[in-house]
Amino acid sequence: MKKIILALGSMQSAEMDLLEKEYHVIKLWKEKDPESTLQAYRLQIQVILSTYNGMPVTQKIIESLPNLELIAQYGAGLNNIDIGIAKARDIAVVSTPDAPTRDTADTAMALILTTLRRVVEADMFVRVGKWNSGAFPPSTSLAGKTVGICGFGRIGQAIAKRCVAFDMKVVYHSRCQKEDQPYQYFNDLKDMAGRVDVLVMACPGGQETYHIANAAIFTALGSRGYFINIARGSVVNTEDLLVALRNRSIAGAGLDVYETEPSVPESLISMDNVVLLPHIGGGTVEARSNMGQLVIANIRAHFKGDSLISPVVA
Ligand code: NAP
Repeated sequence: MKKIILALGSMQSAEMDLLEKEYHVIKLWKEKDPESTLQAYRLQIQVILSTYNGMPVTQKIIESLPNLELIAQYGAGLNNIDIGIAKARDIAVVSTPDAPTRDTADTAMALILTTLRRVVEADMFVRVGKWNSGAFPPSTSLAGKTVGICGFGRIGQAIAKRCVAFDMKVVYHSRCQKEDQPYQYFNDLKDMAGRVDVLVMACPGGQETYHIANAAIFTALGSRGYFINIARGSVVNTEDLLVALRNRSIAGAGLDVYETEPSVPESLISMDNVVLLPHIGGGTVEARSNMGQLVIANIRAHFKGDSLISPVVA
């Protein structure tokens, strides 16, 4: 008999098909009565498949599954999982940390380029025929600018490499200085924001980083500063960001993630000094395929009693 996997969100179809060949996959979000489905299978479910944009892995779900052994997260962030409860129950958690790194760093770079060089506005300028009435106004060069990266792990460091290639100076903030990194370290985010032209958020979401980018940070960044977020919407106080953009107390913003995604505040949509992406950081076929393969490999390893490939060390 096939083992049962409780899926709270979907991987790409190729990897879902592969998973369903080997396991009985319950897609909870598709169930008419999820509560009854959970009740019916509660004793057989040993593994949850979770995704950053699917149903959250709450205390309630974890507690309703007495034989749960593994939470396999399709994604790098873990803010959709109640890690504390999983840890208390001794439930293993795996994620796919490396798979989206380069593509997410590329997305940060795309946002830096589009906001500073006003690429989206320039595209519109051509499309609506304004070019016939005069040249597009000059934009802002990347070269020589200082970029401050908040969260200097896999993605933060991959962004740094790309910024260096664009002749930018890199500095960073995280809780600890990274001894192997050649860039200047700031132990205070506001201090760093006051010294940079571009502030990039690349830290995890969750309680600890909730609204760490707020009015004080935008004031420090100043009217010539740009704000980029590829981390999680929760790291930014959206109201403060809206005020800073509306008052032009920062120059612009490039956003891939939002507090209320997939809904985006109307007022952001109507602003011309923001570039808005629909959470596509790691959203390439290649990254998603690698993430899916890794999820499946971890689930197989778990059921075989082998060591997990990418366990989350809490
Ligand atoms: P990572 O390798 O774990 O790096 C996270 C970094 O954040 C570490 O350098 C950590 O360093 C720092 N950090 C942790 N808590 C912090 C805090 N309170 N203040 C400042 N820095 C803090 O993770 P990653 O792979 O780079 O991914 C980072 C995040 O990007 C993920 O958690 C996810 O939310 C997001 N992400 C977004 C997309 C997208 O599609 N937009 C795709 C993938 C990932 P210290 O321990 O020294 O603080």
